[in-house]
Amino acid sequence: MRQHIVAGNWKMNNSLNEGLKLTTEIMNMVADEVRGNAKVILAPPFIHLTQVKSLIKGAKNVHLSAQNCNHNPSGAFTGEVSASMLNSVGVEYVIIGHSERREYFNETNAQLAAKVNLALENNLLPIFCCGESLEIRESGNFIDFICNQIKESLFHLSEEQFQKVVIAYEPIWAIGTGKTASSEQAQEVHAAIRKFIASKYGANVADDTSILYGGSCKPSNAKELFACADVDGGLIGGASLKSRDFVDIVKSF
Ligand code: 13P
Repeated sequence: MRQHIVAGNWKMNNSLNEGLKLTTEIMNMVADEVRGNAKVILAPPFIHLTQVKSLIKGAKNVHLSAQNCNHNPSGAFTGEVSASMLNSVGVEYVIIGHSERREYFNETNAQLAAKVNLALENNLLPIFCCGESLEIRESGNFIDFICNQIKESLFHLSEEQFQKVVIAYEPIWAIGTGKTASSEQAQEVHAAIRKFIASKYGANVADDTSILYGGSCKPSNAKELFACADVDGGLIGGASLKSRDFVDIVKSF
């Protein structure tokens, strides 16, 4: 049975105090209001991780993610953070292949495969992002494009390794634009991703893989998106910076 997940990607936002206040608010609301099996993941900037970890310790359904890790295990890479360092401070998940990193930091599918390997070697669960630009969507080849991203970065994994991966479909044209994919558009891609996973790892593994939607997801559209058969939750940007909005999204299953 696959898990329902709502993950908040804070991106490069919030001072430490703001991040800790947001975490405390979310923790209180989750404890009071959230029932059922939704798993909450917070992905603050690197420098917040240890203190956010202290705040969420003991909460059963609130977990910690980093937004990135380097594709090398260690060494002379000034300013970078490794998967083993993340593991050493109690991080459980790491977002890999966000479209902003692909675009602004030229991350390739091959580099992302190396990150996925390092994450798994260091007991981190990858939240692997895929998704097409507006140009690719309009060309009509978006499903092939997305499947290729998944193939080149994930399909070298063993079945046991693949079962640790969460997929996030984030159409680039919907990120931070206020323009959400319709539930039909999201469902079409999520179903295609699941079918593609089944073609490699079989129907049982595909059925158990959580596939999240990301891109202008907010309280007003989360219910409709999460009601789709193959949408198992969300990767939330802007709306994860407001505790009320974020928890309302968590409650949208
Ligand atoms: P927005 O929710 O701000 O559109 O961002 C989505 C996203 O990129 C999450 O990783």
